[in-house]
Amino acid sequence: MRLRRLLIIGAAMLVISCEPKPQVWHTEFPAFGTRIEISIAGVPEPSARQASDRIKVLFEALHHRWQPWGDGELGRFNAQLMDTGSATGDAELLDTIRQAMAYTRLSGGRFNPAVAALVREWGFSQAAPISAPPDRTKLMELLAAMPRQQQIDWFPDRLVSPAGGWAIDLGGFAKGLAVDRAIKLLREAGIENAIVNTGGDLRATGRRNERAWRIGIRHPRREGVIAGIDIDGDESVFTSGDYERFFENEGVRYHHILDPETGYPAMGTVSLTVIAGNGALADASATALFVAGPGKWPELAQALGLELVMLVASDGRVEMTAAMAKRVMLENPGQLNVIIVDKP
Ligand code: ADP
Ligand code: MG
Repeated sequence: MRLRRLLIIGAAMLVISCEPKPQVWHTEFPAFGTRIEISIAGVPEPSARQASDRIKVLFEALHHRWQPWGDGELGRFNAQLMDTGSATGDAELLDTIRQAMAYTRLSGGRFNPAVAALVREWGFSQAAPISAPPDRTKLMELLAAMPRQQQIDWFPDRLVSPAGGWAIDLGGFAKGLAVDRAIKLLREAGIENAIVNTGGDLRATGRRNERAWRIGIRHPRREGVIAGIDIDGDESVFTSGDYERFFENEGVRYHHILDPETGYPAMGTVSLTVIAGNGALADASATALFVAGPGKWPELAQALGLELVMLVASDGRVEMTAAMAKRVMLENPGQLNVIIVDKP
């Protein structure tokens, strides 16, 4: 009798230990000039692989479509804009541009995809950046060519502005749109637990088996992370940083996030992180709040309806909302000068 009971217990233990551990499936590929990482939990590997393959095809297509200069859809569109200030493209592209420019209005002009010609003049559209700031007169010329919102007329397949000399850059928005589309595609495939990470900017949904997804925010000046965040649900975490593309000249760092007011790199911010419900909002807002800068971002964050924001300033100060302070797990809190700035 005792032996039988022991045998039964033994068999049960065996079953438990043989049950396969729930796995997180992981894949990586290059797109949008960065490394894309997809993590998927809770479905069999073939389903995860199939969905990831579809995301890869989608991202490669979008990357080509949204290149500001070249033979893709946006490249052709921009060539017309530069020439005459009016351009024809397919309805999907027009819709994307219009969606991006809605954030120009919402951000008081801080996020403005019409900066393409300026970004190119600064050398940030090419593989090898330039080594000294461009000619000021040329920059002012390109700045003056950017139309105001009210000067643009929209049609389903066409955009009309008073004059040429300007173009569209989706660099501050593309990854946000892309992660949103990827998550939609995963959901359509019945996948609810995943992270789509585009070089540190990501959207996470569901859980990593029994636990929340844990992600890291890159330290803007060192290897490693400045903070960790648990995501349990569906959130996008986007960081705009002055370290992504830059050059140094006479001790000054010139980076790829331009202040559309001045035509020069936005000063005062090193990195800015936003957590928002979707990638498009998070991406556009991170760029806009980066430009707004220390002390100025809380007002804009409130206008954009954002509660979770963290900014690292050039002087080392770390400003964040109280809600963000509750969410982030700082790596070395003792070494950081953290300021909670909730009320604008
Ligand atoms: P990161 O590359 O650090 O993730 P962003 O999302 O802010 O940062 O994207 C920066 C890119 O957006 C630039 O490389 C450029 O292509 C474009 N860009 C630069 N300044 C602006 C701006 N003020 N508004 C919109 N797009 C911008
Ligand atoms: Mg952005």
